[in-house]
Amino acid sequence: MKILVINAGSSSLKYRLFEMENESVLAKGVADRIGIGNSFLKHTGKKEITIDKNLPTHEEAIREVLQVLTDPEYGVIKSADEISAVGHRVVAGGEYFTESALVTDDTREKIRDIIELAPLHMPACLMGIDACRKVMPEVPHVLVFDTSFHSTMPDVAKLYGIDYDDYKELKIRRYGAHGISHQYVSQEAAKIIGRKDFNLIVCHLGNGASLSAVKNGKCVDTSMGFTPLEGLIMGTRSGDIDPSVVQYLTHKKGWDVSQVISYLNKSCGVKGISGVSSDFRDLIASANAGNARAELAIDMFSYRVKKYIGAYAAAMDGVDMIAFTAGIGENTPEVRSRVLDNMEYIGLKYDKELNANCPRGEAVKLSTDDSSVLVYVIPTNEELVIARETLRFAPKK
Ligand code: ADP
Repeated sequence: MKILVINAGSSSLKYRLFEMENESVLAKGVADRIGIGNSFLKHTGKKEITIDKNLPTHEEAIREVLQVLTDPEYGVIKSADEISAVGHRVVAGGEYFTESALVTDDTREKIRDIIELAPLHMPACLMGIDACRKVMPEVPHVLVFDTSFHSTMPDVAKLYGIDYDDYKELKIRRYGAHGISHQYVSQEAAKIIGRKDFNLIVCHLGNGASLSAVKNGKCVDTSMGFTPLEGLIMGTRSGDIDPSVVQYLTHKKGWDVSQVISYLNKSCGVKGISGVSSDFRDLIASANAGNARAELAIDMFSYRVKKYIGAYAAAMDGVDMIAFTAGIGENTPEVRSRVLDNMEYIGLKYDKELNANCPRGEAVKLSTDDSSVLVYVIPTNEELVIARETLRFAPKK
């Protein structure tokens, strides 16, 4: 059975086609610069190809994706009818969605209702869903939420210290994000140690970054909040900040609140601190060349991760495993070492040599055999989780 996974951004549409018999990837690619000129489709299937093509909307983009997927030379299927269901990544599910759901007029309305929970991502998501439904009206479309995994958070973790009536009326609470990745890594961690009853801290460190505390396979806390702005210092997001800074910035810079929120999302984080880049490859190179602000940005990023690990170890009454994942978690030993150094006080010991030369693309145990906390690098696979979830809704053949 073939499942198409779609991840729509405001000007891009990423896709991956899975054969679920063996969970293999048949083809993948991205339609990029949709609606902003010079658009193109980059595809890897039977062969790789980049097609320059005018893609004014997401609808043209998905049509082009189906075209290339069925192309005799580059494609991997004879007809779009071979696709049994389409899975859509959705950043926020609010209080409506605690698990994946079929796209219907009703669920689509609910998504529209919660656009404000992730104003940067949700409109794009909706555009992707609408375009794909229009082009592929016959197959089930499935919503897979980045917030579902966090829906098990208890009140003590998910509520803010605000008036309870405002939470009830306006649903102002912590929802978290990156749940698809946290879920995948938790399941892989359980497979690795052969049981579910343990305390795990997942460190998803990418451009967006978040930690989650996972007890017996269920999320009990996570660092992102009402929106993905809360928590860790990220590529361009500030993470935790005193909200009074928002008011202060409106006075000092003459900005309105939307401008401040945009600033906190797009111009802060390690990019703002370093003045160099949001990309850790650039930051490491710059720090190695003696740039003190790049060094500070890496230190601050790592310090915030360490601080959250301490908080989650306390919240779960101990930690059995720490797992690193995503672009930085998997590929940047300089961050992992800054996080893991000097944690012998909880019995954590790791192999520094192995950390520095960690093989890529596979699960690797970094902790030493005498460490009382396991430390792993576990590559994430968000698309596979979306495909598995979507499969549950596909018609049984
Ligand atoms: P997102 O999916 O949120 O855009 P990623 O998980 O792709 O983010 O992570 C991007 C970050 O990972 C960047 O800061 C990048 O520098 C860092 N990174 C470091 N080494 C690599 C690598 N070899 N491949 C990809 N990303 C890397």
